[in-house]
Amino acid sequence: MKGQITLIGAGPGEPELLTLKALRKLKEADAVFYDRLINQDLLNYCSDSCELIDVGKKPKEHKVPQSEIEALIIKKAKEGKRVVRLKSGDPYVFGRGGEEGRNITENDLDFEVIPGITSAIGGLAYAGIPITHRDFSSSFHVITGHLKSENNQLDWKNLAKTEGTLVFLMGMSELETITNQLMKHQKSKDTPVAIVRWATRKDQKTVVGTLETICDVAKSAQMTSPSLIVMGEVVTQRDYLNFYESRPLFGKRVMVPFTEKKGMTHHLIDAGASVLELPKLTKNFLSQNFTIESMKEIVFLDGESVKLFIDQLIETKQDIRQLQHVAFVTIGHHTKVAVNALGILPSEVFETLSDYDLSKKEIETTLFVGEKSYIDQLKELNNQINYYSPFEMISQELNEEELDEVDYLYLPSSKAAYYFIKDLSKEMLEKLITKKIMVMGEVTSKIFEDKNIPVIQSERPSFESVINKLIEEDIK
Ligand code: SAH
Repeated sequence: MKGQITLIGAGPGEPELLTLKALRKLKEADAVFYDRLINQDLLNYCSDSCELIDVGKKPKEHKVPQSEIEALIIKKAKEGKRVVRLKSGDPYVFGRGGEEGRNITENDLDFEVIPGITSAIGGLAYAGIPITHRDFSSSFHVITGHLKSENNQLDWKNLAKTEGTLVFLMGMSELETITNQLMKHQKSKDTPVAIVRWATRKDQKTVVGTLETICDVAKSAQMTSPSLIVMGEVVTQRDYLNFYESRPLFGKRVMVPFTEKKGMTHHLIDAGASVLELPKLTKNFLSQNFTIESMKEIVFLDGESVKLFIDQLIETKQDIRQLQHVAFVTIGHHTKVAVNALGILPSEVFETLSDYDLSKKEIETTLFVGEKSYIDQLKELNNQINYYSPFEMISQELNEEELDEVDYLYLPSSKAAYYFIKDLSKEMLEKLITKKIMVMGEVTSKIFEDKNIPVIQSERPSFESVINKLIEEDIK
């Protein structure tokens, strides 16, 4: 099979600014090459088997030379793999996409490019600056500030004369030269100028000045690369259009458990936060030699586990009719609903786990089915219980750097809390004390309180209530 290489424009940073086609290709990829400007959250879209290759380079500290990157990409594709080269912004805007693309086609490999939102336009939009505007600017120029050599200078005379918006990429180390040259060639020293660092990201920062003052402004605000430098009257529109930086949770990173529906993730993004999703919980399998025939009673502890238990019976070639002689017991409202959905009326129904009296039961013939946090509570009372817990956290764990970046953690259920905290090292648990942890309900609170980690509780179990509480905490 002929290998395929897709150059993907990943956009300026915010993961949702990726195109639909790029998302599909990322999911399908066997190998993904990425660098420093790529938001690592995008890599979560890749499949578990996808090889992730960091070819990042920091300014002045070239990690992997360009020729080597290209050779690596070609090599992978020649192995018949679907290779993605993730480029920040748009691949053809100062991204060496043209060179890489040509190299690929010359190697007789299948090549395609997926355009992305360039930071030069999308990054400015997130700082409240429209690149054109009928009243202020009818053209724009995107210029590299990476001035290769003395005799490869920009045409300052023409640039200074143009009425359109000027956007410099890779210009921070040359800021003084750029502003001096433009003023020297009669561009008005009062021209509004903005610098936007890490646009569309949690660390986005914007400063505004004029052609004359911007160097000092940037210096005192310690503006660094990667930044966009934008010059022109359009900068003034930031006073009206600065939607992103004015969002209530702008600049905050919130960790949430994985869910298919992503309800909380979307609410948080809309409130301006950046979101770190925990890895998906994987299912635990019923062992092949596990038969329920010896059981007289099954106690279901939560609704989700009911469904997963039945799925596992089918997987192990058993079915619910084999449970005719077994009494079904449910703990909690949702659990009862889930058992009813199977067409079964439980023989006993309890509101909470504490209503259930373990000491009165025949432990050898009772099977408890539910998430580990409940099972652990029961095991404290009797270590001999039979149980099946359908969830397990996948091995890919949160690393310390990721946790350092997080401001808030949202753990809405005892299940989420239990699996999150279960394998955390002592150092990581200590770090948690400095974070704000948002939970719902007493059972979840207790999981943290047992480890002396303080938590915050939302007033009601709704997305809005949680967001409002986070905003309140943020203002504090
Ligand atoms: N292909 C990219 C640009 C690559 S050149 C695009 O279309 O956006 C790298 C330069 O782009 C950086 O030095 C910086 O000037 C700019 N840049 C890229 N992403 C940025 C971001 N999120 N915020 C600010 N500047 C960014």
